[in-house]
Amino acid sequence: MHFIEWYPRGYGVAFKIKEKLFETQSSYQRIEIYETEGFGKLLVLEGTVQLVEQGEESYHEPLVHPVMLAHPNPRKVLIIGGGDGGTLREVLKHKTVEKAIMVEIDEMVVEISKIYLGIDRGAFDDPRAEVVIGDGVEYIKRAEEKFDVIIIDSTDPVGPAKQLFSEEFYRHAYEVLNSEGILITQSGSVYLFTNELLDAYSAMKSVFDRVYYFSFPVIGYASPWSFLVGIKGSIDFEKIDMNRAKELELVYYDPERHETLFQMPKYVKELLEGK
Ligand code: SAM
Repeated sequence: MHFIEWYPRGYGVAFKIKEKLFETQSSYQRIEIYETEGFGKLLVLEGTVQLVEQGEESYHEPLVHPVMLAHPNPRKVLIIGGGDGGTLREVLKHKTVEKAIMVEIDEMVVEISKIYLGIDRGAFDDPRAEVVIGDGVEYIKRAEEKFDVIIIDSTDPVGPAKQLFSEEFYRHAYEVLNSEGILITQSGSVYLFTNELLDAYSAMKSVFDRVYYFSFPVIGYASPWSFLVGIKGSIDFEKIDMNRAKELELVYYDPERHETLFQMPKYVKELLEGK
């Protein structure tokens, strides 16, 4: 038995499967959990791979730590999506964090992840964590609190996640950031979702004071995967706090080689810069 996620142009990412552990249709999406032959458990939403248990840090570490270490003192963090708890877990590794709010639209993803994956490793029970079940788009429109860091750990820009890549959403996000703030979003496969990456980059450029892009190889995705970073104020995303970095036990993202993040295939870089 196998599971294949088909990307555009007939490109697929496949796993050999030992057994299907769970399947349901929530109000928002089809949720599946598999036991793979070589990577532990696999979480699939609407037919798209969200994470593989053995290697999920290759996504969560580059999503969380570069922005947390570039911010001089990240105390309040907003996560949008991220129902499996991996992003929350990595955020709470930072001792500066006083409060981390995670806004996930689909309560069932949180519940199923707790039962079958447990990759939050206790993060959901951390007193600094608050889980809100709701649409991140609506939450950010009405938010009265301000945040130092916003992390968008969403599904791809279709269905409930589509608006999370819009200029309107980025404007609201900019408003709820403190005067020195930083936002990161995952922005899809560099090679196979290039147009979505260009659109999101363009939307962010019209809102943020500066926008950076980088890519990282992620296990289970059609890698390299892209990430976009928006700055409010004077934060320099090319510089990180190495003292705080030393306290983190990381496997994939290497703070000592932060500059290697900024790789992008030449033609994609040219497309981005041409915008
Ligand atoms: N690591 C994963 C990846 O990038 O493929 C993402 C994992 S996380 C499970 C993505 C979550 O975003 C899903 O649980 C989905 O329900 C949530 N999501 C999608 N649209 C959302 C929205 N508008 N507001 C809040 N959460 C949303």
